[in-house]
Amino acid sequence: MTVQSSGAPDGADTRVDFYSLTRGELEEWLQRECGEPPFRARQLFQWVYWRRVTDVLQMSDLSRGLREQLAARLYFPQAGIDSRQISTDGTRKYLLRVEKDDRIECVFIKQPKRNTLCVSSQVGCAMGCRFCRTATMGLRRHLSPSEIVRQVLLAIDDAKEFGDAFENLVFMGMGEPLHNVENVIKALEIIRDASGLNISGRRITVSTSGLVPAIERFGAANLDVNLAVSLNATDDETREQVMPVNKRWNIAALLQALREFPMKPRRCITIEYVMLGGVNDRREDLVRLPKLLHGLRAKVNLIPYNMNAGLGFTTPSKERILEWQHALLSHGLSTTIRWSKGPDIDAACGQLATATSKVTKIRAERAYEAPSESTL
Ligand code: SAH
Ligand code: SF4
Repeated sequence: MTVQSSGAPDGADTRVDFYSLTRGELEEWLQRECGEPPFRARQLFQWVYWRRVTDVLQMSDLSRGLREQLAARLYFPQAGIDSRQISTDGTRKYLLRVEKDDRIECVFIKQPKRNTLCVSSQVGCAMGCRFCRTATMGLRRHLSPSEIVRQVLLAIDDAKEFGDAFENLVFMGMGEPLHNVENVIKALEIIRDASGLNISGRRITVSTSGLVPAIERFGAANLDVNLAVSLNATDDETREQVMPVNKRWNIAALLQALREFPMKPRRCITIEYVMLGGVNDRREDLVRLPKLLHGLRAKVNLIPYNMNAGLGFTTPSKERILEWQHALLSHGLSTTIRWSKGPDIDAACGQLATATSKVTKIRAERAYEAPSESTL
């Protein structure tokens, strides 16, 4: 949470990264460090998240003394867009520079009715799914709450330049959000906070490959956001082959955790199913899937496999995918197909990677202030 100060004589710095604090943590910090009452946290949140004022000296409803104290002790890392690629379908993929000079990607997906922002939760991913390009990076590190929150801030602000906004926020970019569950929970608290980014949990979806204890922890946090789960197979043998996480928590354990996941009425879990030709799109899979989901408040999202050269999978035909949708619908399962967006810029599901892939950079026209120690 603290950052190195370029100016501190002994190199030590106790400045706090504002974007990593939930409002509750900021209240505590203000009380402990400055003897200030809890409502100051709300004031500060609104200046930063509502008005985008990060120069504390301009926060006119705080006393001059407090402003000076806070200016010396709080730190607001600035956004750094390395590149912004724009697909012919309008989808925008951002390459962002984060702490430690790592790069992550976040994607603004243009859709006819509702635009969606897809954010990353880790640099790389440890889960090793065989069909996913992010897996080829391995895990470099977790993103901090600040790095997650700032992806959303940046996308909101950049979207204004295009005269648009997003309605849905999904944690389906690089990384396994529930492997980084504590930071994701904190980031979501800030994103949902009425004095923060004020995005309703109804519009947020966190996708997991199936880390059972973390699903329980996430449910207990009562964030009221939607859960999506990458099932991607209907038998343990196949799932183990394509998703090594299944060796630790098999399909039965995963489905049990989903049955126990706390949900408001009328909410349901999204079951994601990446369709891999000849691997998980067989007749028997189509028979088993509705049986597995029986009794679960779930809807299915079929994802045609997006090609990653060298990983050895194929995409089923369009007919096969539509056939699956019809069959599942006839079982009473609400089923949608996620046709890929931004394929010309490798912005689709499972195509995000920064350490190993070469991206054609289009420089962002907008200049972001990037202090030397900073970072997204
Ligand atoms: N780690 C989380 C979220 C990020 S991946 C998870 O796995 O759920 C987001 C979605 O993309 C997951 O459903 C995953 O199964 C899917 N995916 C990964 N690689 C893909 C590919 N090459 N084509 C289509 N979908 C892919
Ligand atoms: Fe990680 Fe999700 Fe890719 Fe699996 S599909 S490697 S969990 S990002």
